[in-house]
Amino acid sequence: MSTERRRVRSRSAVAAVALAAALVAVAPGVGLADTAPEETDATERVVAALEESPVLVDPSFAGALPEDLAQEWSDRIEESGVPLRVLAVPLIEGGDWNGDPGVMAAAVHDRIGGEGHYLVLDGGRLSGHDLTAAGGETPGNAFYGAATVSREMDYDAPAADQVERAVEVALSEDPEGIYSAAEDQRERGFFDWYYSLGWGWATLSMLLPWIVAALALGGLGTGVYYWRRPRRVPSLPQHAAFDNADRARRDDLSDRAARELVELGERLSGAVPLAGEDDALGALQEALDAHAAARRIHDALPAEPELVDVAGVLVLLDMAEDHLERATRPAARRRSAPLRSHCYANPLHGTDTKVTRWREFGGSRHVSVPLCGPCARAVRDRRRPMVLSARHDGREVPYFEVPAEESVWAATGFGALRGDLVARVLRGDHAGRER
Ligand SMILES: [Zn+2]
Repeated sequence: MSTERRRVRSRSAVAAVALAAALVAVAPGVGLADTAPEETDATERVVAALEESPVLVDPSFAGALPEDLAQEWSDRIEESGVPLRVLAVPLIEGGDWNGDPGVMAAAVHDRIGGEGHYLVLDGGRLSGHDLTAAGGETPGNAFYGAATVSREMDYDAPAADQVERAVEVALSEDPEGIYSAAEDQRERGFFDWYYSLGWGWATLSMLLPWIVAALALGGLGTGVYYWRRPRRVPSLPQHAAFDNADRARRDDLSDRAARELVELGERLSGAVPLAGEDDALGALQEALDAHAAARRIHDALPAEPELVDVAGVLVLLDMAEDHLERATRPAARRRSAPLRSHCYANPLHGTDTKVTRWREFGGSRHVSVPLCGPCARAVRDRRRPMVLSARHDGREVPYFEVPAEESVWAATGFGALRGDLVARVLRGDHAGRER
């Protein structure tokens, strides 16, 4: 037994090293021929590592997913015979597989073939991808494993607990049944909460004088305080964020923001608006303002910036880029350069978006906002999209749930809700907020 353990352990060490090499360094001359793009290289390395163990934990996840747990999952998967693979990999926007766990799973599966179930844990997200022998994706063990976790666990549940539960469900006899039960449970919990709140408010207003009297007499203040305190909706479908991977991703984006800030600044200072066109002058001024706003946020970033602020810099740079494009295009072609809209749920999802009606969980508020394809699909299926989180009162919450007066991003939805993001930043709304 102990020999067996040691053997498997050294295999995962090899796997971890291979993966680290794939993800951290792309050294010249390592691996494939010159013609192979980096992505192919990274995929090959993950595939090679998977041959050693069905559980891959990138070193940056080592704190969140200890080795003995990874080993236990690996043993369980191998015993079950289910072609389940667990990949804990920090994916980076614009990096390998374009930062998309589905693309990574598909690329890896393409090399392995057969039927395969992939649980992918990247920065803040656990997702499940089930691929058929023909290469198609269909909801199966991994999808229901990850979906069950999103129904059962809180936004900030520890990553190890999430993976543990997802593996358990994925290897069970009836993953879909477990998921359905979790979904029913969540909806029941939500409606219980909702109705108790509605009934409570009506009663409260009717009985207020009596309650005040009772409070004075009975000292029930504490109880009422707890009763009236806004409650958390039970187990909102959300995905954990954990520090290690988030930090890698945030630092990468922060470096990119710094580089692009300088690069765009140079292009702006050399930009010549089309002569004699007021529109072009106005557009250039808007580009300069957006760039100044981006610089203002960037210059105020602390050494350990929040991802939400780094995302803000990148969004403002995109805005500046759009205005610059308009300023330097002939009027006849200007219409074909519309301002891009970022995904409201998470602007890092990009600008390939469609305006979508979204009813927030636990509220009756509808908003019409631009959402990327996956987020729009999530809203349609009444799941919560993968939202960008921010810290508020010591907790990670969706950025738009931070009170608007404390966050210029929440107030404007990164420009998706209101058009005055740049003006707000330039007049110092951001600098003045509580941190
Ligand atoms: Zn999105």
